[in-house]
Formats: sequence, C-alpha cells, structure tokens
Amino acid sequence: MNDKDPTTVAADAVLAGLSDIRDSLESFYKDLHQHPELGFQERRTAGHVAQALNEWGYEVTEGIAGTGVVGVLHNGEGPTVLLRADMDALPVREQTELSYASTDTGTDADGVEHPVMHACGHDVHVTCLLGTARLMAAGTDAWRGTLVVLFQPNEENGSGARAMVDDGLARRIPRPDVALGQHVLPVPAGTLLTRAGVMMAASDSLRVTFHGRGGHGSMPERTLDPVVLAAATVLRLQTVVSREISAATPAVVTVGAIHAGSGPNIIPDSAEIQLNIRTFEQETRSRVLAAVRRIVVGECATAGADREPEFETLSEFSVTENDEEATGRVAAAFAAYFGEDRALTTGPVPASEDFGELPAGLGCPSTYWGLGGTDPDAYWKAERAGTVHQDIPGNHSPRFAPVLQPTLDTGVRALVTASLAWLAPRPRTTEG
Ligand SMILES: [Zn+2]
Ligand SMILES: [Zn+2]
Repeated sequence: MNDKDPTTVAADAVLAGLSDIRDSLESFYKDLHQHPELGFQERRTAGHVAQALNEWGYEVTEGIAGTGVVGVLHNGEGPTVLLRADMDALPVREQTELSYASTDTGTDADGVEHPVMHACGHDVHVTCLLGTARLMAAGTDAWRGTLVVLFQPNEENGSGARAMVDDGLARRIPRPDVALGQHVLPVPAGTLLTRAGVMMAASDSLRVTFHGRGGHGSMPERTLDPVVLAAATVLRLQTVVSREISAATPAVVTVGAIHAGSGPNIIPDSAEIQLNIRTFEQETRSRVLAAVRRIVVGECATAGADREPEFETLSEFSVTENDEEATGRVAAAFAAYFGEDRALTTGPVPASEDFGELPAGLGCPSTYWGLGGTDPDAYWKAERAGTVHQDIPGNHSPRFAPVLQPTLDTGVRALVTASLAWLAPRPRTTEG
C-alpha cells in the first residue's frame, strides 16, 4: 500500500466517520430489506433517501421518472462524479429465514399481487450510497468538486435509467466527468471485481404468440395445433447457439415460459413462449435475434399456420461496457486502498444492467464493478467442496442473503474511494 497515494489519504479521512454511522446504516438496511418495492413504485424508499439527503445539505430533486431521486453536493472547483444505486425489488417470496426477511407484497403493472423481496441486493446498493453521501458531506475538507448521488427506479425491467434520462436528467444535474456504480454479487464479501471493457451482457426478452386453430382433442385433423408448433419451436431455438454461433463467442438462448391450453382434450387457438437472449457483442446479438425470428416464422410456415406469429419485446438491455481509463483509475485506487488480495478483476458476467443508459444519456465515461456479498467462510467451504453453484444462492434466488458485514462497509469504502480517485486534491504536476 502506498501511504502517499492522494486518493487513499483522502479516503482515510472521509472514512474515519464510518464506525460512527455503521449501526444506523445496518438498521436502515434491515428496514429497507423488510420493505421492498417493485419497479417505479419505490415511493417509501425514495422518500427516506430524499429526506436524508436534504438533512445532509444536498440539493435534492425528487420524482424524476416517478420515483427517481438525485442529490447534488457542490464543494468547490473540481471534477463532477456521479454515483448510482438502483432501488427496486423483485416479485419473489423470500426464503432466507433472516430475522429481517420481507413478508411484504406488491402489485405489478398488470394489477397482480406478488410477495416481494430485495432478491437482487438493490437494498445493499441504496444503503451503501446513502452511507457514502453522508460521509462525503461530513468530510468536505478532504475533497474538491461536485458529488451527484443518483437513486434509480426500475432497473429489473431495464427501463428505469432510460426513463430518468428521458425525464430531463441532463438538465437537472451538472454534467459528470464520470459515472460510477456497483452491484452486489455472490462472491466473498470484502472483495471487489473490476473489469475494463464489456462487463455485463446485452439482454433481450421477447414474447412470441403462435396462432393455430383450436378444436376437439379427438379430431386434430380439423385443427392446427399450436402446442406442437410451440414445442417444435422451443427445441429448434436451442440450435441457434449450438449450430449458428462460434464456440468462441458466448451467447445464451433460454425459453423461460410456455403457456397454452386449458385441458387435455381441447386443442387451443394459440400458444405463447417467452424467451431471453444474452450476448456480449452487437453482431452476435443481431445474429441471434434474426435467427430466432427466422426459426419462429419458419416453424409456423412448416406447420401451415395461416396467421403470422406475433413478436413483442418485453425488455432490452445493452451491454454494460466499462471505459478503459476510468476503470484503470478505479482499479488502481481499490488496489492502493484495499490491497491486491481484495481488489480483483473479473471476466464478463452474463447478467445485464441498465446502468449504461445513464452515462450514455449524460455523455460521460463510466465504470461499474462487482461487490462481494457472500459470507467468505461459506463461500470458501463450498469452493473447496466444488458446490458453489448448489450451495451459494445467487441474485434473484429466494435465498439470496448478503451478509451485513463486511458487505456494507466494503460497499461504502468502495464508493468513497472510487469517487476520490477524481475528487481527492492532487499535487500540482507540470504535465496537463
Ligand atoms: Zn436483478
Ligand atoms: Zn440487480
């Protein structure tokens, strides 16, 4: 560790206050975990966030894209750094058995009630960003510039970041020099994972409706059976990645839902599948999407369907691509502050994120990193047994339960350190 590194010096000064706020951050986290809210409904969460930011002297704008909140803290001449947390939860029934597990329900956009859970850990993101906002406001002697903290709705359906941009985000905040964000992942708590270049996959979710001709199950010759048509399509879709994409290029096609019919002796009129595609390159993405469409249309023609299938886009996420220079700066700051054994790098992650819509909409570089959330002892035990996939619940699992510490401490320390890689005062140099 280099004691003279200006980022580390500033981080030590700002983070000296962390031990005083740890208890209140943990209580805030438990309360938030117990009261998750679905996308675009994060009113309670946003209310708590806005109130706290106001208390700490931020200029606060609420109601961006409904429930989005930004706080701006001006602290003299210097760069502008944007930090982002997403706030939404998932329609999942929690099975963690934590004392602070959620028993709340929420109503989705179609009016259907679901149990809700912070199964993706966005409560970790909100808590860590609030802790950071508080420490940076208390520690203004240690840095110069402008800090923008952004709390985003509806990441899970991929439209919250875009909605904030479309609601005039760029007019409401100073233009950032960099946008930074983090996601809790099922890797040992205390570790951080950075990556330059493509970090997370593009994701496309589609609904396909096949139109057949219903009738009596005993007289299939008088019908056009959409169940057989959908079944043939599902199998054929599994040839896209295996037969049309190079083995050197990662891609996933998953049919996650199939719906048709109401009884054993009735051939239905239509069938529906919902599928998800993950890719890391635009060329592969276009190729897989075109192949899916071609196979669906082709299977309908093969079956003799007299109506065209319908395609509906359910969600779209672009790849999350980390700027090389910004990532290098964050990675160096992490290595200096946390040490090389905790500041790690990662390969591309097949999950997806809409974080990239913010820097794209604001015209600034960005980087996004992974934050370990799994009990390290449990993780290394499973690693030794070769059972990480079975024993360590991942994001979206009803058993996903990040350990409070060192997850929250590390998340706060990471956001503070990364911000200060821009905002810490630097000795003057002769170079530009
Ligand atoms: Zn998620
Ligand atoms: Zn998430």
